[in-house]
Amino acid sequence: MRTVSIVIPVFNEQDSLSLFLDAARPALADALALIGPGARAEYLFVDDGSTDRTADVLAILSRLNGDVRCITLSRNFGKEAALAAGIDHARGDAVIPIDVDLQDPPAVIVEMVRYWLAGAQVVNARRVDRSTDSWFKRWSARSFYRLLNRLSDYPIPENVGDFRLLDRQAVDVVKQLGEQARFNKGLFSWIGFRVATVDYSRARREAGTTKWRLGKLWSLAVDGITASTTMPLRIWSYIGGGIALLAFAYAAFLVVHTLVTGVDTPGYASIMVAVLGLGGLNLMSLGIIGEYLGRVAREVRQRPLYVIADEQGGGVAAPVPVA
Ligand code: UDP
Ligand code: MG
Repeated sequence: MRTVSIVIPVFNEQDSLSLFLDAARPALADALALIGPGARAEYLFVDDGSTDRTADVLAILSRLNGDVRCITLSRNFGKEAALAAGIDHARGDAVIPIDVDLQDPPAVIVEMVRYWLAGAQVVNARRVDRSTDSWFKRWSARSFYRLLNRLSDYPIPENVGDFRLLDRQAVDVVKQLGEQARFNKGLFSWIGFRVATVDYSRARREAGTTKWRLGKLWSLAVDGITASTTMPLRIWSYIGGGIALLAFAYAAFLVVHTLVTGVDTPGYASIMVAVLGLGGLNLMSLGIIGEYLGRVAREVRQRPLYVIADEQGGGVAAPVPVA
């Protein structure tokens, strides 16, 4: 008997929850039919500290549906941590993280399961058409992945989000990666295994609004780079070395020049250029070291990634929700 866990991080999504279940059920039915008799689905919602009625709706849904579970985090920890909580608690033989807003079409799950049954351990879902995203989001995502892949030691596929299928063996490896500054897309690629890819086109958000503000996306991007690469740290030794060489050559030239032609007007311009240029380089490299050091500090504290306030459904005794 095999179980497929659908892991859905949600943050202030009261209107999307039922819509999502209604849309996902038929797709899962098809997928389970492929797996064979006795296959089951588990919908694991992770309430990422929502401040609207999401928790109440989830409590009701998990009481009404035997296959719905929900975990409530004690505050908003962000999507990456919420997803980690879901992956830690999923019980399925295959785990599929998915967004609640139906931008990851559940129909793709059928294809994913087909590849899984054929032996793939990680099935990526790749967006072939992002025309529903804004121009800026597409441009920034493309530049980010180009930079990331140039710097990273292992390829992180572009246009593949968190939506993918992970086999139990892959999930168990992901669970061991106790990194604090999570960049799940990087971790999912890092683990390796037999990978297959399904293409799909990205839909519009069904209800509610996007929870990503520019600032949050930026910090995800910085986490993504610092979590997956060390190249930005190393590159400064090369740049510093190059500049030091140039400086030595210039100093030698100055000494000879002064000896030959005598002291001329003090070189205000060249000194300023050197001071400002090096000052800028220093600050930049300090900033980059700071990014990595900040990560080290966060890891050293060893705080848990998320805190669970409540758990309901799937055999956990549920308190009666106040309607
Ligand atoms: N989400 C979350 N915690 C957050 C922000 C978002 O769990 O702090 C969830 C959100 O409810 C949704 C998924 O992450 O299920 C993707 O969010 P959204 O659709 O807002 O992102 P976008 O599709 O715009 O990248
Ligand atoms: Mg979305």
